[in-house]
Amino acid sequence: MTPAELPLAARATSVGSSPVRDILALTSRPEVISFAGGLPAPELFDAEGIRAAYDRVLAENAARALQYSTSDGDPELRALTAARLTARGLATEADDLLVTTGSQQALTLLTTTLVEPGDVVLVEDPCYLAALQSLSFAGARIVAVPTDDQGIDPVALEEIVVRERPKLLYIIPTFQNPTGRTLSAERRTAVAESAARHGFWIVEDDPYGELRYSGAEVPWIASVPAAADRTALLGSFSKIMAPGLRLGYLRAPERLRRACVIAKQSADLHTSTIDQAAAARYLRDSDLAAHLTVVRSAYRERRDALLDALPGAMPAGSTWNHPDGGMFIWARLPEGLDATELLSVAIKHDVAYVPGAPFFAGTPDPASLRLSFTTHSPGEIHEGMRRLAGVFEQVGAVA
Ligand code: PMP
Repeated sequence: MTPAELPLAARATSVGSSPVRDILALTSRPEVISFAGGLPAPELFDAEGIRAAYDRVLAENAARALQYSTSDGDPELRALTAARLTARGLATEADDLLVTTGSQQALTLLTTTLVEPGDVVLVEDPCYLAALQSLSFAGARIVAVPTDDQGIDPVALEEIVVRERPKLLYIIPTFQNPTGRTLSAERRTAVAESAARHGFWIVEDDPYGELRYSGAEVPWIASVPAAADRTALLGSFSKIMAPGLRLGYLRAPERLRRACVIAKQSADLHTSTIDQAAAARYLRDSDLAAHLTVVRSAYRERRDALLDALPGAMPAGSTWNHPDGGMFIWARLPEGLDATELLSVAIKHDVAYVPGAPFFAGTPDPASLRLSFTTHSPGEIHEGMRRLAGVFEQVGAVA
């Protein structure tokens, strides 16, 4: 057998690379104004505060910060995170939490502990791509649940649950990726009650909840009593501190959390000791709330710049939403236009977005696209939209 013939596991060849990552590679030329990424704005990272936290941790207790540690995570970071969740309305103890290497790892731990090959997993349609990847690696049979402007449709969910008997539902109820949509409190209750009635797990992924620019907070599904015993809530420091820290957490009922701790031992023993200690130190010494006020106000301005520019750029008959937070606006071109085909024209005009089609586990909508507004100034956003208008003019679709 030549090296090229040595077999890989079937799952390694059946799960493809994320199309968004492939597109991001194409748009890394500095002259491209890209609405494709889903990155926090780097100029807003509190690099000084984070550096000070690492300095203190190393100066005060390097032996601990550089040593192996427990799989559950840094007790202080868990306590401080629990206090933040409690302050936001979800009573949480340090022992309810497992620190993970990004919330992406929490997803992998949950698919490892919950999903047998062939199990049905329900997702919103469209859905976060790396969740689809993680579920595919676990061999899940992914079934898409229809959504509307308000997120998942509880009536469609109920029908599909009765028919498919799912093991779990993966859902991003607040400022969803890719759509920016937020599920109402009534729908959250309906989802929770469906899980209680029919017996399935809910994985509630919430990396964007603290990036709210307008509208009122909506309580987590994990806080609806009907589903409290069957909901795993995922949180992340990526969008509120920095994604390079790779720090996230999982809040789950004890039996599930224990199983995830064991899965984590096999994955990486534990999340970086020094990164956890520095994050805890940052939460204690710095004013994260004040930092978030700055981030929110910049992102609000950028969202508003994009909303302001869209009517002058998009072809007549396009639609888009007005998210109250997060990083994304979801748009739809008029029938007949294909966002994937137009992307190559857009890149020639030095502007980029992500076509919506890859985010669908069900029937893709070729006219849909995702626009991220976080990494450009309002001026750049207007310039990017001017270039996008040129793309549509070139193909004869005029605003
Ligand atoms: N869930 C969703 C919905 C996301 O959009 C992301 C990151 N883009 C993640 C999870 C993973 O975030 P992290 O691992 O950085 O916490």
